[in-house]
Amino acid sequence: MEKHEVVVIRGSRKIKRVFCNECAEPVALVALDEAVRISGIGSRAIYRLIEKEQIHFTETPERGALICPATLLRQVWKEQDC
Ligand SMILES: [Zn+2]
Repeated sequence: MEKHEVVVIRGSRKIKRVFCNECAEPVALVALDEAVRISGIGSRAIYRLIEKEQIHFTETPERGALICPATLLRQVWKEQDC
């Protein structure tokens, strides 16, 4: 069991990229904290966009919620224009 945990920690830097299924181009999905950092909006605002289905998002058993940064940034820029 302990050995397994070490492997997980060492391997965590080499996370396999997950690409957005809905984008025409390959867009690497990002975790929620990364999405907060690149968009500058709070995690609650991001969840609101997910609920309204305005951004692409997928859920993985290993990494939880993953967000499509392409659609996220599009929504952020749209809100700033208004
Ligand atoms: Zn997408």
